[in-house]
Amino acid sequence: MNSNGNWFQNLGYKMRVGMQRFMAGRYGTDKLNMAILGVGLVLCLVSMFLRVPAVNMLLTLISYVLVGIAIFRTLSRNTYKRYQENRKYLGMLQRMKDRQHRYYDCPRCHQQIRVPKGKGKIAITCPKCGEKFIKKT
Ligand SMILES: [Zn+2]
Repeated sequence: MNSNGNWFQNLGYKMRVGMQRFMAGRYGTDKLNMAILGVGLVLCLVSMFLRVPAVNMLLTLISYVLVGIAIFRTLSRNTYKRYQENRKYLGMLQRMKDRQHRYYDCPRCHQQIRVPKGKGKIAITCPKCGEKFIKKT
């Protein structure tokens, strides 16, 4: 009995090490992946309750694609790119939450500039490159 237990322990250990080796250098999961999986899951659930075959199929397909993207991102070795994607996503969330400001990209250097909302037309000067441009807030 005891040797059997050891065998199981050993197997568990081997699987853990194997998994670690498999995931070494890969990106893993992040907030963006959770969001992608969440949307995929919701679409999947919605499609279960729909009685329209064409829409049902489309939603199922989209949810599969989303899950596929999430798996791809988790296993990806291009961690820098995945990290940038996540950062973009978090920035987007921040923009959506922030109702007091509007965000613009500088037309020359693409620096993100935050300006207060509701001031009408204003001239914005980029703090990084000094480019001036006019926007309505
Ligand atoms: Zn600029």
